[in-house]
Amino acid sequence: MYYDSTLILLVPAILLSLYASFKVNSTTKKYFKVNASSGMTGEEVARRILNYNGLSNVPVLPVAGELTDHYNPRSKSVSLSEEVFYGRSITSISVAAHECGHAIQDKEAYPAMTFRSALVPTVNFASSASWLIIAAGLFMGSKLLWLGIILFSATVLFQVVTLPVELNASKRALVQLETLGIVGLDEKKQSYKVLSAAALTYIAAALASIATLIRYIAIANGRD
Ligand SMILES: [Zn+2]
Repeated sequence: MYYDSTLILLVPAILLSLYASFKVNSTTKKYFKVNASSGMTGEEVARRILNYNGLSNVPVLPVAGELTDHYNPRSKSVSLSEEVFYGRSITSISVAAHECGHAIQDKEAYPAMTFRSALVPTVNFASSASWLIIAAGLFMGSKLLWLGIILFSATVLFQVVTLPVELNASKRALVQLETLGIVGLDEKKQSYKVLSAAALTYIAAALASIATLIRYIAIANGRD
């Protein structure tokens, strides 16, 4: 890493990232041990929410790994990690409902999600190219550095747009869990804790990329 006084900008972001990963680990672990009263598995909850929202054509599949849960907008499928798919815990049903929240966003063409998806090809290119160009710019001059910064901005924008998409999916998840009578009031609060902890990691990632962007800009300004 390039060392200079602007590194100090990254300290709050790094501390928040560490806290967020601690929080998400401890909260998901804690509520993996709390069985939900409905007795439904994550798969059953996902299936019920999807069917209720006219998405009976969206498959729910088990996937290997921990916290590998995701909704794929291209294949229109919900993938749940095994502990979520087969589990009957508060964490299992909360994460399952969250991924269905993304499926509902997709169906409704939720604007932040559509915009985020449109950014994917640019971001795939920009995230790898920007590091190289910025690294080269540090040695070869500020024009190249600014080009790298512009590219890096695309990845920052992506992280920022991810926030409303994630927060909205969790909000939808809680509404579905309550509307379909899958959780009681106390369980809804527990679900909220699980989903809030997960949201914190996205907030931390966005702040880290904003801090990195500010740092690059400070470096480039110092060079001009
Ligand atoms: Zn999500």
